[in-house]
Amino acid sequence: MVDFGEINLSKKSFINYKQFNENLYQKVISASSALKNKKIVHINSTENGGGVAELLISQVALERNLGLDSHWYVIHPPKEFFVITKKIHNLLQGEDSTLDDVEQNYYLEKSKKVGDELDYFLNKEKVDLVITHDPQPLLIGCCNLLPRVPKILRLHIDLTNPNQETLFFLKPFIEVFDKVIVSRDDFRFPWLKLDKVKTIMPAIDPLAAKNLQITDDEAWEILSRFGVRRKMPLISQISRFDKWKDPIGVIEAFKAAKEEIDNLQLVLLGLIESVDDPEAKAQVNSVLKAAKDIPDILIFYDENQLKGIANDNFVRALQTASDVILQKSLKEGFGLTVSEAMWKGKAVIGGNVGGIKMQIKNGEDGFLVDSIKETASKIVELINNKAFREIIGRRAQKTVASKFLMPRYLLDNLEVYNKVLKIKNENFN
Ligand code: UDP
Repeated sequence: MVDFGEINLSKKSFINYKQFNENLYQKVISASSALKNKKIVHINSTENGGGVAELLISQVALERNLGLDSHWYVIHPPKEFFVITKKIHNLLQGEDSTLDDVEQNYYLEKSKKVGDELDYFLNKEKVDLVITHDPQPLLIGCCNLLPRVPKILRLHIDLTNPNQETLFFLKPFIEVFDKVIVSRDDFRFPWLKLDKVKTIMPAIDPLAAKNLQITDDEAWEILSRFGVRRKMPLISQISRFDKWKDPIGVIEAFKAAKEEIDNLQLVLLGLIESVDDPEAKAQVNSVLKAAKDIPDILIFYDENQLKGIANDNFVRALQTASDVILQKSLKEGFGLTVSEAMWKGKAVIGGNVGGIKMQIKNGEDGFLVDSIKETASKIVELINNKAFREIIGRRAQKTVASKFLMPRYLLDNLEVYNKVLKIKNENFN
């Protein structure tokens, strides 16, 4: 069995992104010129269901269009491997637990096996740069991979308060990388030298299907097929069902807000798609239980519930039709859903954590909350004041236009590629 596979991507043309910022467009073109035909290999653990996959779909396709020979490989280890890597993910996001010896050894052994296979495969061709995304393939991307090839570790998760024991276990492997990219300055591990770390904030693709503009009528045409009612105020959260996204906190806040706004409705959308998230099913069950006796909540967790509507079109309809969008995370590396909703001119209420704090300026282009009570009172305030939420939404859209669109993300990444390749060449010459 092959333990990894390459993802085929649809084509994207970077020229179409000139409309968003011509200056940035030119900078991306010039940053890509020294990277023409360089073979860049991205490795992650899932081709759909989450922000990393969402980013790679656009990033890799656009890198290719810019002349880089970029490829995206997904690892296919056994299910048990993902049970351990989900634990590592949770520990790095601050969970108080431990990774025992058996788990550590399994993670090491399996990573070595997949890494050997990938090595063997990639060794047949010349690879210029490897970029490993997140802890799942962390060891795969560093134990073996072509020792002389420059390597970047891209960590997308919230590293505000990582479990120190787990970090100590991973430290020697992290140190092998030439560069570590994180989403916030304060996610840097203190033992990593400043010049080894780069902060790059993620971004959304304004030309991805889910972010294209549609009218309210088009959005409602879709949602009304599912029992969402146009005459009732609508709030939503679009997120994998994961404890860090706090869907149960959202339900609690909804319940409290509904005491004041009788006809309020809530949609939770989190299709179970990621193979690397073994906890999702149990989370869905807890969410269904928490919502059981509360009226006007719709929960979508299985794509069969969407009656043939593509996920991206459903996300776009929901983000367009909602009056207020929540992302009440307790930990968040970035939270693409926040920028997606802001780009659609929505007032977003986000958890006052990690990457969300970079996207929302509290009270100006959205709101940051620390509790269920605060979330509920913000929902009530915004639902009762359409003019106010529209002002916030217009500012939110401007924020995303200036800071959180794909061309800026590409530029930041291309600059790191150039730097890492330059340093590596100098060292070897
Ligand atoms: N998403 C989706 N369908 C869903 C739930 C989420 O398409 O049912 C998308 C969402 O629109 C966003 C991504 O998955 O593009 C989630 O990225 P984010 O950074 O918000 O969170 P992550 O899942 O990476 O923690």
